[in-house]
Amino acid sequence: MRVVVLGAGVIGVTTAWALSRAGHEVLVLERQQAPAQETSFANGGQLSVSHAEPWANPQAPWQILKWLGKEEAPLLWRMRADVAQWSWGCRFLVECLPHRTRRNTQSLLSLGLFSRRALAEIRDELDLNYHQMQRGILHFYTDHAAFEHAKRSAEFLSATGVERLIKSAEECLRIEPALADSRDPIVGGTFTVDDESGDARVFTEALARACAQRGVDFRFGATVSTLERHQERIIAAKMTDGECLVADAFVVALGCHSAPLLNSLGLKFPIYPLKGYSASIAIQADTMAPYVSLTDEAHKLVFSRLGDVLRVAGTAEFAGYDLRVNETRCAALMQRTREIFPSLDAVSQIEFWTGLRPATPGNVPFIGVTEIPNLWLNSGHGTLGWTLACGSAKLLAQMMSGMRPGIDQTPFRARYGD
Ligand SMILES: Cc1cc2nc3c(=O)[nH]c(=O)nc-3n(C[C@H](O)[C@H](O)[C@H](O)COP(=O)(O)OP(=O)(O)OC[C@H]3O[C@@H](n4cnc5c(N)ncnc54)[C@H](O)[C@@H]3O)c2cc1C
Repeated sequence: MRVVVLGAGVIGVTTAWALSRAGHEVLVLERQQAPAQETSFANGGQLSVSHAEPWANPQAPWQILKWLGKEEAPLLWRMRADVAQWSWGCRFLVECLPHRTRRNTQSLLSLGLFSRRALAEIRDELDLNYHQMQRGILHFYTDHAAFEHAKRSAEFLSATGVERLIKSAEECLRIEPALADSRDPIVGGTFTVDDESGDARVFTEALARACAQRGVDFRFGATVSTLERHQERIIAAKMTDGECLVADAFVVALGCHSAPLLNSLGLKFPIYPLKGYSASIAIQADTMAPYVSLTDEAHKLVFSRLGDVLRVAGTAEFAGYDLRVNETRCAALMQRTREIFPSLDAVSQIEFWTGLRPATPGNVPFIGVTEIPNLWLNSGHGTLGWTLACGSAKLLAQMMSGMRPGIDQTPFRARYGD
C-alpha cells in the first residue's frame, strides 16, 4: 500500500519507520527543511513510561486556580476568546475526575510499556546514538505533603505492575549526587529504574536517515494545505503550491496542527497546543550537573543530560499557537534550576526554546482510523510524545496492515465522542 505520512516530528518519523518495516511504500511530507524542527526539537528528553499520570488529575483544577494570572506559574491558563480553548478546558475538567484519571493512567502505561519494547527493537536493529541514558528517572520532592502524596501514588501503581521505588532524601543523593548542593533541601523521591532519557531530535533525525535508506521518500519544505476528499475516501494531499499527491492511505501526524486540518474535513478532535519551555545549558566537565534524569514535581520541571548539554524543560501555558519566548517564564525556570544546582550560577551559555505540545484533555493520544476509512491519525501525545512515539507508530502500523494489535487499541481510537 502507498501511504502518505503528514509531518516529520518524532511521531511522523517513527510512523514512517513502522509502516516501511511492515512493507508499505511511504512518502513523508514536512513543511520544515528537516525532521523534528517543531515540538520534537528540544523537549525534556525523558522516556518516562512509569510516570504516565496525566496532568488532568483531581488536584489539577485547584492548582490551576491557585496559579491563575501568575506569570511565572508552572501551569498557566491565559484566558482567550477562543472557543477551542474553552471547550478543551471543559473536557479537561471532566478528565480530572478520579475514575477518568485512573483509566487514562492505565491506558498511557500500557502504551508506554509497549513503546519501551518498540524502542528497544529499533535500537537492536539500528546503531543509533541519541545521547541515550538508561539510568532511570528520579522524581524528587522538596515538600513533605507532596512526598506523602507521591508515596500513595507509588502504591497504586505497584498494583498495576509498575515499580516506583520510594527513596529517602539520603538515598536520592546517592542516586544523583549533583542534588547534594540544592538550596531547597530534598525531602525524598521516587525512582523508576527502567525509565530512560535521550535526545528526541537527534533520535528522529537518525531514524529519518534509516528510513530513507529503506526507501522512504521525504519531501521537506512541503506544506499540506488540504486533503482532497472524493466520496468516502481521501484521494490526495494538496500542497500549498497546488501539487496533489495521491496515495492509498494517509496518516495525519501534524502534532498540534492536526486538529485544524481534520476540522476542515468536518472531523473534530480536541487536540490543543499546550506551550512549554526548555533551556539547553552548555555544561563543562567539572559542572555539578546530574547524570540521572530528574523531575522536580513542585515546579513541573525535568532535567536531562543530553551529551554536553543539560536540558531543563517544563511548564505549561494554555496560550493558543503563540510560540513567543516570555522572559519572566525563562527567568523563573533558570531561578529554580540554579536553586537546585548552584554550580550553574556561573553558566551563561543558555538557549531558550518554546514548543507546543499536542495535548488532548486526558493526555491520551488518538491512534487509528478516523471516520474516513483511508484516513488515519497518530496525534495528541501531549506531554509524552517522545515516550510514546515508537509504540504508537508500531500500533498504528499493525492496525493499518491488518495485523493483530500488540495492545488493546480501544482507549486510543481516533473517533472522538464514540
Ligand atoms: C517543553 C516540552 C517538554 C517536553 N518534554 C517531554 C519529555 O520529556 N518526554 C516526552 O515524552 N515528551 C515530552 N514533550 C512532548 C513531546 O515533545 C511531544 O509530544 C512530541 O514532540 C510531539 O511530536 P509530534 O510529532 O506529534 O509533533 P511535532 O514534533 O510538532 O511534529 C509535527 C510536524 O508536522 C509538521 N507540520 C505541521 N503542519 C504541517 C503542514 N501543514 N504541512 C506539512 N507539515 C506540517 C511540523 O513542521 C512538525 O515537524 C515535551 C514537550 C515540550 C513542549
